Amino acid sequence: MVVYKFGGASVRSAEGIKNIVSIVSGNSQNMFIVVSAMGKTTNAMERVLDAFMRAEKNEALAQMIEIEQFHRGICNQIFYSEKETDEILNPLFTEIKKLIINGIGDDYDRWYDRLVSYGEIISTKIISAYLKTQKVDNKWLDMRHLLITDSNFREANVNMEQSRKKLREAVDFKQYKIFIGQGFIGANLKGDATTLGREGSDYTAAVVGNLLDAQSVTIWKDVPGILNADPRIFPNTVLIPELTYADAVELAYSGAQIIHPKTIKPLENANIPLFVRPFYAPAEFGSVIKAQTAHAIDVPVLILRENQTLVSIRPRDFSFVLEDSLSHVFSVLNKHRIKVSLIQSSAVSISVCVDNTRYLPAALDELFNDYLVIYNHNLELLTIRGTNTEIENETTSGREILLSQHTRRIARFLMRKKELN
Ligand code: ASP
Ligand code: MG
Repeated sequence: MVVYKFGGASVRSAEGIKNIVSIVSGNSQNMFIVVSAMGKTTNAMERVLDAFMRAEKNEALAQMIEIEQFHRGICNQIFYSEKETDEILNPLFTEIKKLIINGIGDDYDRWYDRLVSYGEIISTKIISAYLKTQKVDNKWLDMRHLLITDSNFREANVNMEQSRKKLREAVDFKQYKIFIGQGFIGANLKGDATTLGREGSDYTAAVVGNLLDAQSVTIWKDVPGILNADPRIFPNTVLIPELTYADAVELAYSGAQIIHPKTIKPLENANIPLFVRPFYAPAEFGSVIKAQTAHAIDVPVLILRENQTLVSIRPRDFSFVLEDSLSHVFSVLNKHRIKVSLIQSSAVSISVCVDNTRYLPAALDELFNDYLVIYNHNLELLTIRGTNTEIENETTSGREILLSQHTRRIARFLMRKKELN
């Protein structure tokens, strides 16, 4: 069997959904399809949640109606009658509105998962129904019953053993050749919805591949494959046809948007190749990530990680930071879910570059208790793999660099964000 994953950008329009049919019908293997929420639905659901948490229920409901209209607009283009659309959407939107009306926004993370997970439920319901109208028989699955996680809401960890058992019970290829389930979402053992972290659908695809012993996992994306840089930021990008798992982890961890950093481990563990292929040119090969490649990557790879904060931390009592405080500093960061993208230390202070998320102020507050803490927001971390002087000059000229690191192959520059004129 194979796993196919379609992301939000691929399913943001009727055209995209129709394209899934042609891609899926071109493959006769048993298949598990993982789908994200449509377009920017997850962002929109986050706005609903924020209004709900502020107890602005009317605002939350108004936002919800916009989300409903967006999905209706797509359904109207793919289904013959409004009745079909109503049958799919009405029960779901009624359920969500009830949650909003009756719920009390106490625990942000828990409510996040309960509400935001509907983005994927809605998209998969629509796509499953549409595939059926196109004679692509399939079985819709609710991953909130099959992908078992812990209760670390918003960043839940999958329990592979429990999920394997559940998923294998649900997926019987003798009954259906195609199953379709949501990316990004699961549930704890009590049945509370959980999510796996933003952009987590790639990770779901990898986990499903591992749990079902897939021959391969394919992520269909709105790019030609894996490029050596983000074409929205850097000119003259080239396709990297083959990468090792180690290459991919390094790129993803440095902030390459191409795949979620957690995606590689479940694949590497089971030696499953990951294809990244162009959704709108399905005949093209794209890129493959696997255990061994014929040649190493021979072009510089540029990765820009945005919205970074540089935090410098110094013990108030002048103790040596590396010996005495390192593990404490990291346990505080970890507790507040702060992702560290770079570390630099001196005798008495340590600097970390972190993603500036909504959790950061609380982490900094806690660090203030024991340390002198200074920080700068609005930074970008540029990682150049396979670096050379020319490319460094080209990419950093005129930029204010707050910190840089070099190893044999890799250069990293933490720079102030470019002012827009
Ligand atoms: N829909 C989720 C998000 O936008 C998960 C995903 O697309 O991978 O973050
Ligand atoms: Mg997405």
